[in-house]
Amino acid sequence: MRRERTGAQFGVELGAGDVATDDGRDQPAAAARHQRRVELMLLLGSGFLVVVGLGWGVFFALNGRWPIVATDTVLVSAGLVTLVLTRRKQLLPAALLLLGTLFVVICGICLLLDLPSAQVPRSTHHFLLPLGACAHLVLRGNRKWVHHAVALVFFAAFLALASTSGGLTSAYALPDSMRTGGTWVNNILSVATLYIVLYVMQADVAARNALEADLRTAIVEGQFTLHYQPQIDEHGDVIGAEALARWTHPQRGMVPPSEFIPLAEQTGLILQLGDWVLKQACAQLVAWNNQPCTAELVLAVNVSARQFRQPDFVAQVLSIVGRSGVPPHRLKLELTESMLVNDVEDIIAKMQSLKAHGVGFSLDDFGTGYSSLAYLKRLPLDQLKIDQAFVRDLLSNPNDAAIARAVVNLGHNLGLHVIAEGVETEGQHAFLSSVGCHAFQGYLFSKPLPVAAFDAYVAQHASAHALV
Ligand code: C2E
Ligand code: MG
Ligand code: MG
Repeated sequence: MRRERTGAQFGVELGAGDVATDDGRDQPAAAARHQRRVELMLLLGSGFLVVVGLGWGVFFALNGRWPIVATDTVLVSAGLVTLVLTRRKQLLPAALLLLGTLFVVICGICLLLDLPSAQVPRSTHHFLLPLGACAHLVLRGNRKWVHHAVALVFFAAFLALASTSGGLTSAYALPDSMRTGGTWVNNILSVATLYIVLYVMQADVAARNALEADLRTAIVEGQFTLHYQPQIDEHGDVIGAEALARWTHPQRGMVPPSEFIPLAEQTGLILQLGDWVLKQACAQLVAWNNQPCTAELVLAVNVSARQFRQPDFVAQVLSIVGRSGVPPHRLKLELTESMLVNDVEDIIAKMQSLKAHGVGFSLDDFGTGYSSLAYLKRLPLDQLKIDQAFVRDLLSNPNDAAIARAVVNLGHNLGLHVIAEGVETEGQHAFLSSVGCHAFQGYLFSKPLPVAAFDAYVAQHASAHALV
């Protein structure tokens, strides 16, 4: 599984819930809406296959056309399998099975049953247009080639069938008398489907544009704040925090980062937002300097791929750090593994420049990307951060436990610190400690907190430890 800080979603987006909380597992509203819509489309599509398959099956059985009845059985089976896959939330296989079956059926009908004559044109191929658009909508968020290729196959088949009049054989051709009514039904249904798909697409674009406009305003009007999630060492001391951006939308309330960070990334607004986050983080470090229990904290700041790719990123960071007066070693930049796919040499050079000034680096969400171990050795990192996806189930899933253990060993062999994120239970904490992980972040200790609550947490923690 690969996750980019760009927020690129993969597969048909999964999960549910519109709520904006500090739970990293919560889904952005748009993704949840998209998923519900995909499920609905798949349920309708599979129901359609079953009903049509049964209907035609009975019709052709009564007419004694057994080879076609056999094909209808395939239709009904495909519909039922799609239904089961959808109920099990395996949306991508369900979508591909449904689209594939519909494609084969429509082309088959066009080439065997719906043969054009001088009086009645072919009409079944008109369904390929809305289905191509549907495929484009449903497969959004998948790899680009899947997203575009499936839709293009539908459109190409439409073109071929609209521009030709032949069939494979006329043995099964339906009589014109039957096709005349069918033409009207096909055309009305296909145009109505196309209209609905276009309406949904347009609604998505409008929602995105509105959010983008709101995001611009939010940056200008300063609607963002930073929350701080404590990072704890093996003795239970707070050693630092991760700064996490929060957007309080005037109407919608708290918008989760999983919704606005990808949009900021796509629109380029992440550059302004990232700049603000860095300045705010440095200002906070300066403020913490004045309190004994926070004076030594290291603050981790997430950096997006687009931000890091800017040619003057190093100069910007050094200028912000320099102007704030914060010792650079108190700042740690979190990069994600998926950023390392392109232009690794440039990334290494930038990291080295910043590292030479004392800025630290952590590799966030480690284990979810495909970074080569050879590169890992060359990156001037300080820390690996085990992704919460492996921490979540490590007590019940032996694979996750093995991965967590392997990441800790790998980190130590490379001379890096290892921190686990998303630690929610004592059991996870104990397991991670037993395999040599010495730093933790997660709800077991604290959710991300507004600064006042964070300060109180650290103060309380320090006094509790002083008493022990
Ligand atoms: P991340 O950097 O991996 O941050 C960790 C996420 O996990 C945070 O979600 C945090 O609230 C959540 N989390 C922490 N502990 C637990 C736990 O025990 N259980 C669960 N279920 N979740 C936990 P958040 O704040 O919603 O941030 C999501 C992502 O948004 C971050 O993932 C990061 O990639 C991005 N992000 C947040 N702030 C910024 C920012 O200022 N700049 C950039 N570029 N990205 C940011
Ligand atoms: Mg992070
Ligand atoms: Mg992370």
